Amino acid sequence: MRIEGIEKVRRILCVFPRYTSSFGTFEHAYPLTDGVQAFMPPQGLLLIAAYLPAHWPIRFIDENIRPTNREDFEWAVAVLVSGMHIQRQQMNDICRRAHGFDLAVALGGPSVSACPDYYPSFDYLHVGELGDATNELIERLARDPSRPAEQVVLKTVDRVAMTDFPIPAYELAELSRYFLGSIQYSSGCPYQCEFCDIPGLYGRNPRLKTPQQITAELDRMLECGIRGSVYFVDDNFIGNRKAALELLPHLVEWQKKTGYVLRFSCEATLNIAKRPEILAGMREAFFSTIFCGIETPDPVALKAMHKDHNMMVPIMEAIHTLNSFGMEVVSGIILGLDTDKPETGHHLLEFIEASQIPLLTINLLQALPKTPLWDRLKRENRLIEDEGRDSNVDFRLPYEDVVGTWRACMGSAYLPGKVLERFEYQIRHTYPNRVQPPPSRARASWRNIKLGLTMLRNIFWKVGVFGDYRREFWKFALLRLVRGEIEYLISSIMVAHHLIMFAREASGGHTNASYYSLKLQEASVPAE
Ligand code: SF4
Repeated sequence: MRIEGIEKVRRILCVFPRYTSSFGTFEHAYPLTDGVQAFMPPQGLLLIAAYLPAHWPIRFIDENIRPTNREDFEWAVAVLVSGMHIQRQQMNDICRRAHGFDLAVALGGPSVSACPDYYPSFDYLHVGELGDATNELIERLARDPSRPAEQVVLKTVDRVAMTDFPIPAYELAELSRYFLGSIQYSSGCPYQCEFCDIPGLYGRNPRLKTPQQITAELDRMLECGIRGSVYFVDDNFIGNRKAALELLPHLVEWQKKTGYVLRFSCEATLNIAKRPEILAGMREAFFSTIFCGIETPDPVALKAMHKDHNMMVPIMEAIHTLNSFGMEVVSGIILGLDTDKPETGHHLLEFIEASQIPLLTINLLQALPKTPLWDRLKRENRLIEDEGRDSNVDFRLPYEDVVGTWRACMGSAYLPGKVLERFEYQIRHTYPNRVQPPPSRARASWRNIKLGLTMLRNIFWKVGVFGDYRREFWKFALLRLVRGEIEYLISSIMVAHHLIMFAREASGGHTNASYYSLKLQEASVPAE
């Protein structure tokens, strides 16, 4: 339950750390937009900001947009930070800077909840979800905001029901600066894939908000300037299939009311292909993209990682089914599995060609704490803590071969001609199956037209004139122009350009081969 009776006033600075450059943050697309600077608004930190006593002044800074400055630190009496493993160094750096102003710093979020040991310098560690630990942190800061003599670890035992969650403080974030909007309907996943920390962190019985909370959040996001697409960050959108079915008519109604002003995307298990009733609802609600952790096309590997549910429908058939409901599939892929063979990279490229999926996040296997994989590899003495490596797993194949396969796959899969061919396929076979929203004033607003023109100008100038894959670009772009497919031209090039540029860096060895890697990279320099 939300804490009552706090009288003291505390000025709280909420700081979200910079991301290390990664495949999934789309930073190469930002220069093609009209000022996007960050990937998604951080749900967790904005939720905590909304949960703090209403009379506490709060300042929110996303260091992907601007660094925290002296004036911010001097304004605050305490600092809250949240983030994922990939932001570990940046979180510790924010703590160091805040301590320079003698401020107490509290850390919450998924990384510290899984690995409190990573963060010895913070004054408060908030382990777990919103709950009694949050209330105790607020009470302590209200009583005495100065730095405690030693680190205090607060663990949530009683979680706040998601039905009691306040609307995240979207008004504190500059939503128009984000590539995607974010929203959360459920938390947790019933499956137990060996490498995944979601069931261990958030449970196997998904917890839920109400559909009314979701539509109220969407209303608030619109008021705060969101546009384009909103991503359901739920661990598995169909973790509770009945709940997904209950939500969809509310989303359809909301879209009709607002003139289909937003598109939706989500993460879900591939066995969603067995649920045409859910897919039909998603189509009506204007879901255009669905991220599925396909992980590998190899059935033996899927079985070994306890992801048998991916085989409930043959993988290709499942992808075609999702495409037939207008949804482009984005796929997670893992290399470095125990079942991998020297020819695994070749098979992956064949799969990409056959599936025509434009965007696949290809990562090296990483063992995360609180996963069955971690436990198994620890037993087998195959965990390697070395910040110079791209993975903490002692692979069955030689490390250099696995990293080499990753680089070769990235280099080949994201050659400009190949990526654009896959988008061409989606334009012909998937996008026409989407609901065609009726013309609405909200969609055809002057603001949206101006945005479209700005992006088009940037694309033609930065890719069509100065880009180094002009021939492939114009082959793709001219077809779009002839067919009047301007929206597809913009949306495809935004993503394709990032993939092409990032993959070049990857195949040249300039980026991490795992989203979770702790290896130091240039882009992870502090935001100061
Ligand atoms: S289905 Fe997805 S979220 Fe669920 S355990 Fe597997 S990888 Fe994790």
